[in-house]
Amino acid sequence: MDLIAHLIAGKSQTSAGTSPVFNPATGEQRGAVAAGGKPEIDAAVTAAQAAFPAWAATTPSRRAKVMYEMRRLLIARGDEIAKVISAEHGKMHADALGEVARGQEVVEFACGIPHLLKGSFSPSVSTGMDSYDQRQPLGVVAGITPFNFPAMVPLWMMPMALACGNTFILKPSERDPSAANLLHDLWREAGLPDGVLNVVHGGKAAVDAILDHPGIAAVSFVGSTPIAKYVYARGSAAGKRVQALGGAKNHLVVMPDADLDQAADALMGAGYGSAGERCMAVSVAVPVGEKTADALIAKLKPRVQSLKVGPASDAGAEMGPLVTAAHRDKVVSYIDSGAREGAELVVDGRGLKLQGYEKGFWLGGTLLDRVTPEMTVYKEEIFGPVLSVVRAESYENAVGLINSHPFANGTAIFTRDGDAARDFTDRIQVGMVGVNVPIPVPVGYHSFGGWKSSIFGSHGVYGPESVHFYTRLKTVTARWPTGLRSGAQFHFSER
Ligand code: NAD
Repeated sequence: MDLIAHLIAGKSQTSAGTSPVFNPATGEQRGAVAAGGKPEIDAAVTAAQAAFPAWAATTPSRRAKVMYEMRRLLIARGDEIAKVISAEHGKMHADALGEVARGQEVVEFACGIPHLLKGSFSPSVSTGMDSYDQRQPLGVVAGITPFNFPAMVPLWMMPMALACGNTFILKPSERDPSAANLLHDLWREAGLPDGVLNVVHGGKAAVDAILDHPGIAAVSFVGSTPIAKYVYARGSAAGKRVQALGGAKNHLVVMPDADLDQAADALMGAGYGSAGERCMAVSVAVPVGEKTADALIAKLKPRVQSLKVGPASDAGAEMGPLVTAAHRDKVVSYIDSGAREGAELVVDGRGLKLQGYEKGFWLGGTLLDRVTPEMTVYKEEIFGPVLSVVRAESYENAVGLINSHPFANGTAIFTRDGDAARDFTDRIQVGMVGVNVPIPVPVGYHSFGGWKSSIFGSHGVYGPESVHFYTRLKTVTARWPTGLRSGAQFHFSER
């Protein structure tokens, strides 16, 4: 059985405690991960602080060379990373490869760091006086990441934090921690000096030690909303810069003029891909009008019934197991509550068993119709292969429904009407919006982030926003002796 250790200053380090890591397809324990806390975070901060001055003084061009090399390694070793992800998360190999490719996009953006760190310069702001901006790294920064993208979410953070000249401590999810260690090894191979990147495993004790440590200047968090809120409050109280991305309830509006086959296919991929364990998964379909709703359900029902569920090793499978037995049971309890509270269970995925994988954490695709805003399945994030259909009487009702939900990560509209699409993108109170695109995750050179309870803190991750998050602005106003003397000045004068 694998023992997944911390990686501090380039060396493996264990802890007295561990927690189990499962293969969700077989239900068997495949490893144990070290459970770190304050002593391990203290050691990682010491290593990252020691490495900071030299890394911050490394020219942006040289830091970019590490990014170029990391890009090459991600391409060369992507398959290996994807296999590790599937083994611990359960997602399909193609999906795991896609996650690595999305992370690679951020590395590609970070290759342009010399350009991204260019400041602005204003000559002659006053007689003989010039002014210029400079963006400087913060110091030691930390990332705390969720289970659902064990490579992509760390790669949302590490490339830009490092390219900006910071040193980094990653605290990955304890449920699928191996991808983080593999990424650490690739960064080292790419040329990152020891101590610039450290990985500390664990749960709440490690997170609390990060939030309280005075040597950590900033924290990027991605995970569920209750923990995001907690991380933001505790980290900010300790004087840190914090960005904390939380949960989601993403709606997809289907207008009466939409191509319904296209919309149904989009809902299948966005609702059930990666077993619905995506923060940008569509969990609510909102058909406008009863006729649209009936036609959409007629198209979705057979598709959900014939969804191919299986392990990542089955090339024909479309969806894998859930990450743990506890998470599977939680999702089942949401389906129970939907049925109890009056939703129509069109397809019931509970009780699915797979021959040869009897102990796996399986759940079939589930479709609930006539869900209403008062139901628990609508109010809360389920994070599983469960699609709820909320029928809207009109387009205005659909917009009102979405704008009233506390979560505001992503949303989409399917229509052929440019007017409706434009009105939707203008008025919808959500951070990432798709027009005939079900999962509108921004490319690496835009930034990712929701609104309302889907984010705490003011910056999105990766893209241009990350340059601001991972640096501090300094503005220099300079005058060199010119022989002109103006005497002491006691008041601001006109420049
Ligand atoms: P989670 O909140 O349980 O865990 C996230 C991180 O917080 C992990 O590293 C975990 O070890 C740590 N953690 C867990 N409980 C803690 C506690 N009590 N105190 C301190 N730290 C704690 O999330 P998860 O289940 O790993 O991931 C799924 C969630 O992440 C979903 O809600 C999903 O929507 C969200 N997510 C959001 C985005 C986004 O960009 N908004 C992206 C991916 C996932």
